[in-house]
Amino acid sequence: MQLLPMKELLLEAKANNSAVAAINVSNMETITGLLETAQKMESSIILQISPMQIQAQKITYAQIVEMIKLFGRDYDIKTSIHVDHAVDVEDCYKAIDSGFTSVMYDGSMVDFDTNIENTLKVVNYAKGKNVTVEAELGKVGGAEASDSTEEGYMTDPGKVEIFVNRTGVDCLAVAIGNAHGQYKCKPKLDFNRLSAIYEKAGIPLVLHGGTGIPDVDIKKAISKGIRKVNIFTEVDRAFVKGFVDAYTGNKNIYMMHAQEQAREYMMREIEKKLRICKNVEEE
Ligand SMILES: [Zn+2]
Repeated sequence: MQLLPMKELLLEAKANNSAVAAINVSNMETITGLLETAQKMESSIILQISPMQIQAQKITYAQIVEMIKLFGRDYDIKTSIHVDHAVDVEDCYKAIDSGFTSVMYDGSMVDFDTNIENTLKVVNYAKGKNVTVEAELGKVGGAEASDSTEEGYMTDPGKVEIFVNRTGVDCLAVAIGNAHGQYKCKPKLDFNRLSAIYEKAGIPLVLHGGTGIPDVDIKKAISKGIRKVNIFTEVDRAFVKGFVDAYTGNKNIYMMHAQEQAREYMMREIEKKLRICKNVEEE
């Protein structure tokens, strides 16, 4: 695999009017399953992991990078390794020092000025190291909280230009009615807001909470400037379901075979997602 700064993948996606799927990895099977599906689909892929996952899995930033590089050797695809939702700038620094080619500083929990200040710190740290920086403006909440469509949480197009200019960030995660996790009711994306944000930002935009957004809406979002689509829950669910189904069907099953089925379920889901991100028609 070719490990690149995420920005390069996003600019290539822009030229193709497509987006790159960013999928979270949780173990060896998710890494190889992702790489294999991306190669089959001839798609670039972003492998991402959050500090919360790193903690839960009892691994280090350096270990996950080495794992991806080791398994990636045999694949002929373009990738980036990205840390997702680092709310602490120190986590971004650690990831950069460990060989990640992209980091997201998530300033959605702090006020506008602090978000600018911290994002700028990460941008400066990443400078000259060929690492892409993603920031978040607005707040992509959890679907459970049902706050995703409240005006106060949405990205304010009026603040975008100043944020981008003052931070020099490479790409921007937007809150336009999207949310993390499983949506309780059908999400309604604010496409007019997205267009206004894109006009002001002039950099690739990122859609978090890809799970549960109808395919047609993801495609429409891509046609309006989204270049990275984050997908976690659906792919994660598929893996867990495959594992549980295998065990339910045979209580004597060995881990290798339960994981084999989990990997297959997950890869089917990944393939669907990669297809959506590809070949979006011009509007
Ligand atoms: Zn997210």
